[in-house]
Amino acid sequence: MVRKLFGGGPVISLVDFMGTSPTLLMLCQVLYLRNSDAWTWTLANNGIFSIKKLTTLIDCATFRSELNLPGTLINKMVPLKIELFIWRARRHRIPVRVELDKREIDLGYIRCPICDDGLEDVDHALFKCKFANEIWLRVFKWWKFDQANIPLSVDCFIGNGFNFQNTSVKEIWQSVVWDTCYTIWNNRNATVFGKSKMGSAMILSEIQLRCFEWINNRSKSISLDWNSWLTNPINLESQLTPSANGFLGMGQISVQIL
Ligand SMILES: [Zn+2]
Repeated sequence: MVRKLFGGGPVISLVDFMGTSPTLLMLCQVLYLRNSDAWTWTLANNGIFSIKKLTTLIDCATFRSELNLPGTLINKMVPLKIELFIWRARRHRIPVRVELDKREIDLGYIRCPICDDGLEDVDHALFKCKFANEIWLRVFKWWKFDQANIPLSVDCFIGNGFNFQNTSVKEIWQSVVWDTCYTIWNNRNATVFGKSKMGSAMILSEIQLRCFEWINNRSKSISLDWNSWLTNPINLESQLTPSANGFLGMGQISVQIL
């Protein structure tokens, strides 16, 4: 039973409080009565329950365990929510209309709500849709990649569509690709649910800023220069790849190796 976790209230059962998930119930079992007046939460060093700590534990116990399945891609430069979205997208588990229809949720209409130019499956929503393609065109132009290589499938691109010598650059480009997918999906939802949709130029600016901050904040060894990031990110390959004599290549002014 749980009482006074949040400042009082009626006595309720743990199942009522946390739901019936085995994982959540497992977390709850660490709550115990030390004496007649106080609860101690043994998953925190100070014994004090907090929503923030509980959220972190639930994330680790649920999402992370799934993210650690064989074949799962991990990129520490992006937040967990992005990794989780990509995990779901690669398994066709985002609620596009075709997938909802497969699960017998009758929408009456499974064509793309953005362009109406095809069935809305995962590949269409994230890559083939006219709206998605506008974003990918801008991202590829930013990285000076051949636009003929813009992907058409989540299976052939998110997991394997990277060809860099340097592992860090691969992770950086992967961060951009993953955030682009996530941003396209969020803007698709904004349109479907009647919220204002951003233009492709604004979306690219958001991706550039967000990835810049993630990489600089999360990487212990890379510090990106903002102007170089905007104008010539592909130069990272030569900047971060050690040359044959063990020294870094050109561009150390714009990318500092800490
Ligand atoms: Zn479409």
